[in-house]
Amino acid sequence: MQLIDTHSHLYDPTFADDIDNVIDHATQCGVGTIILPAIDSTTHDAQHTLCNKYPQIFKQMIGVHPTSIKDSYAHELAVVENILATDHHKYIAIGEIGLDYYWDTTYSSQQCLALEQQLHWANLYHKPVCLHIRNAYSEMFKILNRYNVEAKGVFHCFSGTLDEAWRAVEMGYMIGVGGVVTFKKATLAAIVKDIPLDMIVLETDSPYLAPTPFRGKRNESAYCKIVAEKIAEIKNITLQEVAATTTKNAKRLFKLQ
Ligand SMILES: [Zn+2]
Repeated sequence: MQLIDTHSHLYDPTFADDIDNVIDHATQCGVGTIILPAIDSTTHDAQHTLCNKYPQIFKQMIGVHPTSIKDSYAHELAVVENILATDHHKYIAIGEIGLDYYWDTTYSSQQCLALEQQLHWANLYHKPVCLHIRNAYSEMFKILNRYNVEAKGVFHCFSGTLDEAWRAVEMGYMIGVGGVVTFKKATLAAIVKDIPLDMIVLETDSPYLAPTPFRGKRNESAYCKIVAEKIAEIKNITLQEVAATTTKNAKRLFKLQ
């Protein structure tokens, strides 16, 4: 069984002391490929170090996270622009990028500008996008209707409604499903039941959003298997089918071998 964790921040300092064990545990659970989304210039070094140390496990993205869009966002974008200009072949996607109106709306217009700039780069370098969206689905759809990303992408850690999930799927975007699907009150389970497995990719968003029974604890890529088991239960299919199809989906989206 082969699983792909399409979204994991394993370069986070909370993994510094036991990263080898975390990778071993993931591999034992079938998670042989882990995709690292970027946050901003403060995390690039840690991300690159991890990627260089375990090139057979990790693939990486580059982009500026919406919560990092503040007064100095022009600088953050310039850093990414320079990296792409010289090293775009090292990155499989632009991410994570998007709109987050949950924590703070002070910079919402700057978030839109930064998103549009990065969608433009996705097309310039023929990359898919990893979209982070909180409390901003209608604005996101408006922008995606104006900027058609040719290689499409994923609505990471999907938290919208069933209608919004279908809207994303009909536009050709994958739905990223993680630990939230195991939570008791999760509306995500009903969404996962309804949308086709062909449009779902697995993710953990480690170290955040650990699935039940580890909720509230540090998440890790091995728990991708728990997410896959939950999807199998919801859709009443085998774990093997979930693994095979979601892995095929991730390979198709991110053009992995
Ligand atoms: Zn993330």
